Amino acid sequence: MSAADDLIIWTHRWKLDAHTIQCRCCHGRQPEQLKVEDFPHLPGCGYESTASTPWASLDTICSRLQKS
Ligand SMILES: [Zn+2]
Repeated sequence: MSAADDLIIWTHRWKLDAHTIQCRCCHGRQPEQLKVEDFPHLPGCGYESTASTPWASLDTICSRLQKS
């Protein structure tokens, strides 16, 4: 999968707004200062078990985009 595909999937799952990432499923939020911690999904969120490090994922996707 290309970095662009990964970015599309990321934006389906997350919303980035003013240095805060929001989960589109549970609307939990994590500011950039807390990026090293697991994402605080709310109970019952469908992404809770599969997506806990959106900042790291975004960093990886961005560095791949810059190389391609
Ligand atoms: Zn969530």
